[in-house]
Amino acid sequence: MKDFQFHRPSNINDAVGLVKGKSGAKFLAGGQSLLPVLKLELAEPSDLVSLAHLKELREIKIDGDKLLIGALATHDDVAGNEHVRKKLPALATLAGGIGDAQVRNRGTLGGSVAHADPAADYPAALLGLGATIVTDRRSIAAEDFFTGLFQTALGRDELVKAVQFPIPKRAAYAKFAHRASKYALVGVFIAETGAGVRVAVTGAGAKAFRMPAFEAALGKQLAPASLDGIAVSSADLNSDAEASAEYRAHLISVMARRAVQALA
Ligand SMILES: Cc1cc2nc3c(=O)[nH]c(=O)nc-3n(C[C@H](O)[C@H](O)[C@H](O)COP(=O)(O)OP(=O)(O)OC[C@H]3O[C@@H](n4cnc5c(N)ncnc54)[C@H](O)[C@@H]3O)c2cc1C
Repeated sequence: MKDFQFHRPSNINDAVGLVKGKSGAKFLAGGQSLLPVLKLELAEPSDLVSLAHLKELREIKIDGDKLLIGALATHDDVAGNEHVRKKLPALATLAGGIGDAQVRNRGTLGGSVAHADPAADYPAALLGLGATIVTDRRSIAAEDFFTGLFQTALGRDELVKAVQFPIPKRAAYAKFAHRASKYALVGVFIAETGAGVRVAVTGAGAKAFRMPAFEAALGKQLAPASLDGIAVSSADLNSDAEASAEYRAHLISVMARRAVQALA
């Protein structure tokens, strides 16, 4: 790992200013994705700007008909929070199924969405619920946020402050997890909202995506049998040592059925 300067700003303006002023600077949240990247020397930042002292970014609260979760809320915070468990239990379940106890204790919502790992769990929930990512300068719809493999709409010096989740009538998440890391080989998030049923998939492609054919069928009748006969194309799906594209296509159907059965 190469040497870098370490900063511990105490407010958002200073944190953003430190990254804005240096082209090689990066934010550091839980370090669960960034530190492995540094150890492998896939990135060599000149400066790491720790977000650890920005306590206001750890808040979780109900905001009208939405749930607002600060970027620094850890996966454990989300899994155990009373508002999340009551209003969006599917999100608590998703957060509680991320990685292992150490990862959940350090890893954050903001770090996960900013990193945009194709096998991360949160992107399915953000897309499935139609969430909004609130940054230090604007709000970005989840549909516009994840732009590609490890790519987002964030500017280099843009800080994720929070994610705003609309509260659905019912929602559920089902994933087929990697045996060791628990990353999603395929994860499917389904939400019944006032505007219809939304279905989002993670782990299967370069970025999370919605399933319009599933949404239309489940919009008519929200039951597993509604998915019978709907073929899932393996074109453009990931293929690796863990699962072929064809197997992932099959898993999308299976996980979607499990999510419908689990709707709560
Ligand atoms: C063994 C292991 C197993 C895992 N299993 C899973 C799993 O099952 N499911 C899953 O979803 N994830 C999994 N993860 C990833 C984990 O969820 C990480 O917590 C997450 O990807 C990154 O969050 P972080 O807070 O650690 O971010 P960091 O590693 O600190 O940062 C990641 C990136 O995001 C940027 N960043 C961080 N915070 C912000 C912010 N607020 N605004 C803008 N940019 C920011 C950083 O600059 C960096 O580029 C696993 C990780 C490990 C090590």
